[in-house]
Amino acid sequence: MTHPHSASDFLIRAQQEATSEILREFAPEEVATEVAENALEFSDRMILRVLSQSSRAEQPACSVHCTSCCHLHTTASVPEVILLAERLRLGIEPLAPLQAKLASHIAQTEGLRARERRHLRLPCPLLADGMCVVYDARPLVCRGWNSLEIKRCEADLAHPVSETEAYLNMNQYRAASQIAQGVANAIFNLGLDARPLDMVRGLAIALEVKDAALRWLAGDDLFLAAVNEHVFPPFSN
Ligand code: SF4
Repeated sequence: MTHPHSASDFLIRAQQEATSEILREFAPEEVATEVAENALEFSDRMILRVLSQSSRAEQPACSVHCTSCCHLHTTASVPEVILLAERLRLGIEPLAPLQAKLASHIAQTEGLRARERRHLRLPCPLLADGMCVVYDARPLVCRGWNSLEIKRCEADLAHPVSETEAYLNMNQYRAASQIAQGVANAIFNLGLDARPLDMVRGLAIALEVKDAALRWLAGDDLFLAAVNEHVFPPFSN
């Protein structure tokens, strides 16, 4: 008999094993970016598979030019923000205007609780001219999120307090979440902080601190100020 969670366990275990191997085998300066690239590549393959097995009604209506969900709050792991920082250093010159956008975004979200943050539809600082400037390296959260009905996203963006829920292809969403869980498990097992970061704050740190990847790997609490559950606590705390 097939266990009902066997497929999800497979994705978590497969990514955990792949990440653990990278953490063991790669040179310290390459570990973080390799962990992230490996997880993103695996998620793309698994999402393609999920979509090929989904019915026509379950195909997301998203496109690269649709940015409604880029006005929601985004989280990412430390390796993901380090990869983003590396791609941005290579691709954007000068970086100062982007860093100013990150700082402004941080100032506008300072002190909010999780729900208040959810209602504040700020555009992601990585949007430019209606497109993600790091689309190929966008975090797992961005890859998993999807919508079967664009109208619902637009309604929610226009009236955030309505909390209009998107109808998702849940298998796509779960695949990305489970791969993120596999990465987190492997990082946690190494004794490092694996809690999701507020992407914007994590990226600001990764851009500012040149040796962030090595310091994180050495156990430095460099990203503590970006840990999502600290930045945006729920009201019940
Ligand atoms: S990282 Fe890119 S895809 Fe993700 S929310 Fe920001 S702009 Fe959108």
